[in-house]
Amino acid sequence: MTCFMCKGDMEEKLTTFMVDLGNCIVIVKNVPSHVCRQCGEISYSDEVSERLEKIVDAMKNAPVEISVSTYAA
Ligand SMILES: [Zn+2]
Repeated sequence: MTCFMCKGDMEEKLTTFMVDLGNCIVIVKNVPSHVCRQCGEISYSDEVSERLEKIVDAMKNAPVEISVSTYAA
């Protein structure tokens, strides 16, 4: 797999995904992702993106300012 930003080599790594929804920040740890060795661009497979969306959906209504979850259930 090559980076769509710089065409560099991507390596598989576990990263921390974070999204700021305005009223709440959702953090998901240990997300399987591809990280560019050159520019640091992070990309997720379709399967991982879908699962992240579901995790964010499930957590965004929690009455807390920061939700922390781990990808591997
Ligand atoms: Zn790159």
